[in-house]
Amino acid sequence: MRIGLDLGGTKIEGIALDDDGTPLARRRVATPRHDYAATLQAMAGLVRDLEAETSRRGTVGVGMPGALSPATGLVKNANSTWLIGQPLDHDLSSLLERPVRFANDANCFALSEAVDGAAAGARVVFGVIVGTGTGGGIAVERKVLTGPNAIAGEWGHNPLPWPRAGEWPGPPCYCGKTGCVETFLSGPGMARDFREATGRDLAAPEVVARAERGDGAAGAVLERYEERMARALAVVLNLLDPDVVVLGGGMSQIARLYESVPRLWQEWAFSDRVDTALRPPVHGDSSGVRGAAWLWGPGEAQAGAS
Ligand SMILES: [Zn+2]
Repeated sequence: MRIGLDLGGTKIEGIALDDDGTPLARRRVATPRHDYAATLQAMAGLVRDLEAETSRRGTVGVGMPGALSPATGLVKNANSTWLIGQPLDHDLSSLLERPVRFANDANCFALSEAVDGAAAGARVVFGVIVGTGTGGGIAVERKVLTGPNAIAGEWGHNPLPWPRAGEWPGPPCYCGKTGCVETFLSGPGMARDFREATGRDLAAPEVVARAERGDGAAGAVLERYEERMARALAVVLNLLDPDVVVLGGGMSQIARLYESVPRLWQEWAFSDRVDTALRPPVHGDSSGVRGAAWLWGPGEAQAGAS
């Protein structure tokens, strides 16, 4: 049995999966905000509850905002700031008396869709969460690709490529740079583009709904969005050449992206043709917690649970 935890800023979700990915039990609790010790206890409590409900012991994987620094083992880059600098791996492993694996939530999304979701059977998968922010993760042969800095796939903080007039230096990003992909492709990025074009404030879903009803200004914003996503993903195609790109997060619900972006990225990718697929997610909001469970791969479950 595999247990996955998705540590979010407002809730912690837990799932227990059978070997074939069938959910055996699910639980969720509110995240004890600004309290590291209580957050640890809540995570351990979820694991114990899932194991009591299923009468089985499982491996444990955790998806989280940010990452564990490979150099120090401490949490970094987390927007749940009370976790930053804490030895989460060491402490949770001690509490649960077994090794625990951790990954960034975008990596868990990519892994979940690669194992048994929209990219099942694909060898190289790039998963992108486009919502409030823009995160990315890479799964290769059903494993998360990580590196010495734990930043593989962090495409959202590269600059928007082949900038057009008005796109450079671009909007300021919370990371300290300007013109990051995230500032254009996140939901707030689309809302800002609409505001700059029209002087009116609308959230991204409403901009999309107006575009689909034939509103000219909203339609132009959506067309710019599609073309920017195509340029930004062409860089990923050139660098990684994935079999499948899966979109997640709120912006992944824009149905026409799956037709328009692959048509547009042909122009920018360094290839006479592009056979990469762009797909919507299968597991939706469950991808984070399912991907966390899959951090323990086939054949590893026994070792990780003992
Ligand atoms: Zn940035």
